[in-house]
Amino acid sequence: MIRSIRDIDIEEKRVFIRCDFNVPLDEFMNITDDRRIRSAIQTIRYCLDHHCTVIVASHLDRPNGVFEAKYSLDPIFKRLTRLLSCEVKFASDVIGLDAKEKAASLQKGEVLLLENLRFEKGEIKNDPEFAKELASYAEIYINDAFGVCHRAHASVEAITKYFNTNTSAAGFLLQKEVSFSKNLLKAPTRPFVAVVGGSKVSGKLQALINLLPRIDKLIIGGGMAFTFLKAQGLDIGNSLVEDDLMPEALKVLDKAKELGVKLYLPVDVVAAQTCSQDSTIKFVTTQEIPKGWMGLDIGPATSRMFREALNDAQTILWNGPMGVFELEKFAKGSHKMSHAISEAHATTVVGGGDTADVVARAGDADEMTFISTGGGASLELIEGKELPGVRPLYIKEVD
Ligand code: AMP
Repeated sequence: MIRSIRDIDIEEKRVFIRCDFNVPLDEFMNITDDRRIRSAIQTIRYCLDHHCTVIVASHLDRPNGVFEAKYSLDPIFKRLTRLLSCEVKFASDVIGLDAKEKAASLQKGEVLLLENLRFEKGEIKNDPEFAKELASYAEIYINDAFGVCHRAHASVEAITKYFNTNTSAAGFLLQKEVSFSKNLLKAPTRPFVAVVGGSKVSGKLQALINLLPRIDKLIIGGGMAFTFLKAQGLDIGNSLVEDDLMPEALKVLDKAKELGVKLYLPVDVVAAQTCSQDSTIKFVTTQEIPKGWMGLDIGPATSRMFREALNDAQTILWNGPMGVFELEKFAKGSHKMSHAISEAHATTVVGGGDTADVVARAGDADEMTFISTGGGASLELIEGKELPGVRPLYIKEVD
């Protein structure tokens, strides 16, 4: 069992909370889905109610270890202030002079948000020195950043070395995410169907292989489907593909057959020559994608077939959009999938920022059983893996 923030004494202490505020932003830096920020409020309020001095940190996107204005947490700072309905202080760096001065003068009942953790090179390197600097801000460490727990980064892994079982714990969001996934794993009602999509096979291939023995059906859509289709000898035009992964994709197909898992791939796509809202589109079968064209969404026949395949599902796990849903022209397949899943008489679990965004845009969020804030992290948990960010927070230390 994971240690909860309720299990440790935080009264009037200085608390460092690692949150996951990696939210989608549009071109004007407006937050398009603030679910991850809203999900962190419970833990922050709990600390404020216990008269803590609260230092909050998060990453946003993937800056390369240096400051870049477009990755600043400024929009998040503004939203957080609004959601907490109290003054939040904002540091212009992470472990620099400004952050240190503001942290030192922070009073009980006040909140300080640090700048993007990934402005520091040490963050993704899991650097102990950087982690030590972060740890020096507080007496208590709380991890509420489920979305990054599958990464051994300084603010989720190395930092825990500077705290012990009485001074570190999981926040409410992390606790909820971990216990939901673990319960789902214990005895998923069958048939258990996994629906995967998104752009890359590379990030999800291992997850697919590990999931196969646990599921009854696997539905593959989105950009990643083309690596599978090409591996089967289809001409996919200019569609997204990872050629080097074709042998692995074939292995997934073989293993599914061996295990008796039914596997579904798109039979038609919405194709265009360019990926833009103004592109001319064609509905074509996956056998007939014209030269120079690319599949940017699943087609109507595929949507119907996928819906049929979901008919008898009792548990559905969805991770990754069916097409380039950010553009209305290529969003239909993802929206139809969202409707099909939300209407299924099944336990429905949605993972990942993009997929949560699709479900929100399709207006189905209330109909899903559980929307996880983590994509990769939730897949890895459901695969049965132990996450580096969660491991140090178990009630008994794991050897
Ligand atoms: P991921 O981060 O791997 O889950 O991928 C999410 C991204 O995949 C979204 O931004 C989609 O626009 C993109 N995507 C989905 N389907 C396709 C496709 N057929 N071609 C290119 N990109 C896609």
